Amino acid sequence: MKNLIAGNWKLKGSPDLADSYISHLSKTKPDNCTVVVCPTFDLLEYICDKWSSEFGHLGAQDCFHEDTNYNDGLRTPDEIVSKGTSYIILGHSDRRNKCHETSELVRKKVDLVWDKGLIPIVCVGEKSDERKQNLTQKIVNKQITESLDFDNLRGPFVIAYEPVWAIGSGNTPTMEEIGEVHDEIRKLLVDLTCPTRGHNIPLLYGGSADDQNAGSILSVENVNGLLIGGASLNIQKFGAIIECA
Ligand code: PEP
Repeated sequence: MKNLIAGNWKLKGSPDLADSYISHLSKTKPDNCTVVVCPTFDLLEYICDKWSSEFGHLGAQDCFHEDTNYNDGLRTPDEIVSKGTSYIILGHSDRRNKCHETSELVRKKVDLVWDKGLIPIVCVGEKSDERKQNLTQKIVNKQITESLDFDNLRGPFVIAYEPVWAIGSGNTPTMEEIGEVHDEIRKLLVDLTCPTRGHNIPLLYGGSADDQNAGSILSVENVNGLLIGGASLNIQKFGAIIECA
């Protein structure tokens, strides 16, 4: 499968950054990998008019878990889809840990966005203290099992393994550690689905991945792409990561 390189701008980004992406991607038109760019909703409004499918896909960050406009603040999947998105990041560690979002809530969102034709990028990962207690795989497997309804998978999905302690810290696990976790996730997905499906679910690594370490991480077995935060705020770095893929 092609690598998937997703940029998560979080609450950063600007029209200038969006313009730098448009300018770069219109020249490079990457087809070696699947590119997904996830700006804030406001910037999605800005970028979607200038976006071409030759650049890759647009994605969103989170959504409300019910199909109604009667909510305060969070965007609904319908609003998100109206901006030309095809992917959505759900269960990011910021949501799980800073907003106390449970896997049960992530699962509701996954079901809802499938109904709208979006592909969820479901984030999972252990905290530093959980890692120290050797609980990484237990936590990751539990989050995956509980964040998706494996008895009724109604659409495609992507898993992003993002150790919480690695996000934005400049630290990453070793390549061996990334490989071990991804191998176990692959086994779990094969068990929960079937070999054909389980082997074709893209598994991304995220957490301080950048243009310097992308090549090494992407060469690890069962890593099928990267979820990039900080380094996606610079098109030169993000462009170099796309080239690595
Ligand atoms: C993220 O926020 O999902 C992320 C991976 O951030 P960073 O690349 O900055 O660690």
